[in-house]
Amino acid sequence: MKLVIASNNARKRTEITAILENLGIRIIPPDETLFVEVEEDGETFAQNAKKKAEAFAKVNHCAALGDDSGLCVDALNGAPGVYSSRFAGVDADDVTNNAKLLRELNGVANRKAYFACSIHVAFPNGPCITAEGRVDGEILERKDGAGGFGYDPLFYCPALEKTFAQASPEEKASVSHRGRALKKLSKEFQTIV
Ligand code: IMP
Repeated sequence: MKLVIASNNARKRTEITAILENLGIRIIPPDETLFVEVEEDGETFAQNAKKKAEAFAKVNHCAALGDDSGLCVDALNGAPGVYSSRFAGVDADDVTNNAKLLRELNGVANRKAYFACSIHVAFPNGPCITAEGRVDGEILERKDGAGGFGYDPLFYCPALEKTFAQASPEEKASVSHRGRALKKLSKEFQTIV
């Protein structure tokens, strides 16, 4: 059974691959994967995850796992949400996105936020499997830590008592939105495979 990761984000792929390998699921390496640019125009994480998984399954002729995820901030009415990767504009990167988040929350007392993750595994001509995960936390007033990616340096996780960027990959995976979604998914995946 071949499974590719339907993502062009190398750091996200590394995280997913490590979690799945711990759960006993082997991934086709990037140099054997055909990559596709997929427009993430869905209104929900689930729609975007499905779109990515189906596009990669089609060109790779094997099962493909799409992950769509993002940060939802209470005081911003759930933004940036599905727009997390382009919060600061079309040319946004982690630095500009984090800077914009700090600007938008300047002077705001309610710092509650959560990460959400939708996973969709598409099988060519077959069924699909989906799973969701979420982790609650708070947005700090300045970045802390050098690990992870995206908003990790600003996301304080009470369960770990540190930011995701200060946590080891294993610590982050044990509580993260992605770790939770992939754990749920792996049970169903093993029964299908
Ligand atoms: P996409 O799912 O590739 O559209 O992008 C998700 C965006 O959400 C990333 O570019 C990050 O900005 C943010 N994001 C998703 N998951 C995480 C995470 O685990 N840590 C930090 N940021 C994340």
